[in-house]
Amino acid sequence: MTSDRAPRAVVVGGGIGGLAAARGLQLAGWSVLVLERAAALEPLGAGISLWPNAVRALQDLGVHLPVRTDDTATGGGMRTRHGRWMARTHAERFPDRYGAPLLAVHRADLQEALLGALAPGTVVTGTPVLGIDGGPDSARVRHGAGEERAELVVIADGVRSAARALVAGPGPRPRYAGYTAWRAVVPAGAVRARLDGATESWGRGERFGIVPLADGRVYWFATANAPEGEHAVGGEHAEVRRRFSDWHAPIPEVVRATCAGDVLRHDVYELRPHPRSYVGGRLVLLGDAAHAMSPDLGQGACQAIEDAAALRVLVPVGGDVDAGLAAYDRLRRPRARGIARRSAQVGRLGQLEGRVTSGARDLAVRWLPDVVGERQLDGVLRWRPPPAVVPGGAGSRG
Ligand SMILES: Cc1cc2nc3c(=O)[nH]c(=O)nc-3n(C[C@H](O)[C@H](O)[C@H](O)COP(=O)(O)OP(=O)(O)OC[C@H]3O[C@@H](n4cnc5c(N)ncnc54)[C@H](O)[C@@H]3O)c2cc1C
Repeated sequence: MTSDRAPRAVVVGGGIGGLAAARGLQLAGWSVLVLERAAALEPLGAGISLWPNAVRALQDLGVHLPVRTDDTATGGGMRTRHGRWMARTHAERFPDRYGAPLLAVHRADLQEALLGALAPGTVVTGTPVLGIDGGPDSARVRHGAGEERAELVVIADGVRSAARALVAGPGPRPRYAGYTAWRAVVPAGAVRARLDGATESWGRGERFGIVPLADGRVYWFATANAPEGEHAVGGEHAEVRRRFSDWHAPIPEVVRATCAGDVLRHDVYELRPHPRSYVGGRLVLLGDAAHAMSPDLGQGACQAIEDAAALRVLVPVGGDVDAGLAAYDRLRRPRARGIARRSAQVGRLGQLEGRVTSGARDLAVRWLPDVVGERQLDGVLRWRPPPAVVPGGAGSRG
């Protein structure tokens, strides 16, 4: 895939975005080094929904998830806190409609699949990037163990990216969305109730989602309007039980079946304003560093994976890297910005707290035919990687 003489790409950050980018660039012929500041890539986190756009991008990247095709999500939809259906998702139609299924997996399984697709020794942990000096054709990356010269630097260091400002200036910053999110995964067999696919139930300023994972475990998430940085004095599991114990079945059972120590809580942040460019010289933003969005469409990591699949096509070794990066900026920025906006809108609707406003919202969602909701998803889920724009151009100049 790469040779010693292949030009060097350094990826800052070994999250989902950084690992996917590394895979894409290795397929494109680059010699890739991922620098990750964490001491180890721990299999942390809860579940994650991978929508058809990302599943197809992962297929393009040759990343194989440990999932059988008949493990794909089916059914599902939106309910009120009392259990009344407001809209159905029909995830079983996705393979026909979008060419790939909706998959729900544990983040650890996605991380393992991405790592397994990389050449040995690609990721170096315990190595924070301390600074980057960018030039027109290359950059010098200073890190905890020395420095590295690279013809391409992918900045994938997450929503709190320190390196983003080198490309996008100081403007784009993480802004608190006004609500917090709890997440956990329940062991297979611990929930006895029959689950109706992936569901999200809306209350007043609170939501609860249940997502059966492909391997039989159950991932759930819950949200609530709350002050930034707040933590529950009596523990987060107790807080979720307090808030959701009178919601419709099987929500109380799902919460009861969760080990208290498994409940994660994170405030939700979005990047605002959106960067004016994803590219500066040979530095390129990817994933949350470029477009951190609220989780309301479940598209944050999906967009990072799309970024990676696009980069693979647009900056092949031997092509014109600068033209490829310009195309990446032109194609990726409007798409991710549009999806981030829609995600934020859904978040604002979902977190409505007033009796009248949330009641009117529920009515509107119920009256909207399912097919309208499906059509709105089409633009997000029918994504295809771009065609190669600059084959055999001016060379990588590396
Ligand atoms: C509640 C919630 C639910 C979500 N659900 C979904 C979902 O269902 N589907 C979906 O697609 N998305 C979802 N998302 C979004 C998704 O989690 C993120 O978009 C995705 O994880 C971003 O990946 P990333 O690699 O860009 O950033 P990160 O995961 O933040 O990775 C950045 C990495 O960079 C490293 N790093 C930082 N600084 C440095 C440095 N100086 N040097 C070296 N390394 C550094 C960090 O240690 C980290 O490992 C959800 C988010 C939340 C909060």
